Amino acid sequence: MYSLAEAIEDKFGKGVTVEKKTAVHGGDANDAYALLLSDGSKAFLKANSLSNADFFRAEKEGIDAIRSTGTIRVPEIYAAGTDDGYSFLLMEHIGSAGKVRGFWDKLGRKLAAMHKAGTADFVSGGKYGFNADNYIGAGYQKNGCRDSWIKFFAEQRLEVQFKLTERYFDSDIIKKAGKLLDTLDRFLYEPEKPSLLHGDLWAGNFMSDENGNPMFIDPAVYVGCSEADIAMTELFGGFDRSFYTAYFDEMGKVPGYEDRRDLYNLYHLTNHLNLFGRSYLLPVVRIIERYQ
Ligand code: ADP
Repeated sequence: MYSLAEAIEDKFGKGVTVEKKTAVHGGDANDAYALLLSDGSKAFLKANSLSNADFFRAEKEGIDAIRSTGTIRVPEIYAAGTDDGYSFLLMEHIGSAGKVRGFWDKLGRKLAAMHKAGTADFVSGGKYGFNADNYIGAGYQKNGCRDSWIKFFAEQRLEVQFKLTERYFDSDIIKKAGKLLDTLDRFLYEPEKPSLLHGDLWAGNFMSDENGNPMFIDPAVYVGCSEADIAMTELFGGFDRSFYTAYFDEMGKVPGYEDRRDLYNLYHLTNHLNLFGRSYLLPVVRIIERYQ
């Protein structure tokens, strides 16, 4: 056990305690709080049940991986620990300036820079994957490394999710899903260069810092094809057009991206089907049927 009180003293000094705890809403999984400490400092706390401690281990590793690219700001992580009946992640409190002018352009260029950064430190025994498994929302995300992106996406992404869909898929869709896994190379390509991905890039997982600069939070990192991150930004929307203009200005656009987008998002939609139920079945089935 590494208690919250210990973590706060280790970071802020002996005798520093929590003076005020304010609940923050907006996340989808954890309880979140802005902390005011007795020395006047602030910190941000995420908390969950003890059985969720591994989520915070994974979140810390993901944030640290993104930070190591030196491309986009992420919160400093002070500690991941467990206390009396709960697990927690203690980190830097970000005071947001909101989306100031130029925010989206910067976000696009910083994401491109992250996608261009070296990836060798994050994988072993293959070019795609990550050194540890992590989570995509509440779903377990396997990151076993592979040399082929297509093989990785088939075996560690789609197949893992398809296996969890037994109560939703009928025999026809099971057959079609199997065929899709076997023929993915008809639709996807092997990237020239692997990229570190945020992995869960919906509109709730970036922030603006106190100077209006973009930051990433709550990632589900792995090394993959950069298009998978961009595809996810389009799944639920909320990203301004100038984000895409800036991103593709830096990265270039591989022809046919729009034809691959839904295949990448099939992973997230199947994860949603497995986590949240039947309302995601139709979009999942439609995509599987389109790529036959
Ligand atoms: P969850 O893991 O539950 O999805 P998030 O990481 O998305 O939680 O955080 C919940 C909300 O708290 C975010 O939408 C954001 O507004 C805010 N937030 C996240 N990290 C910080 C931080 N380091 N400092 C200040 N606010 C933050």
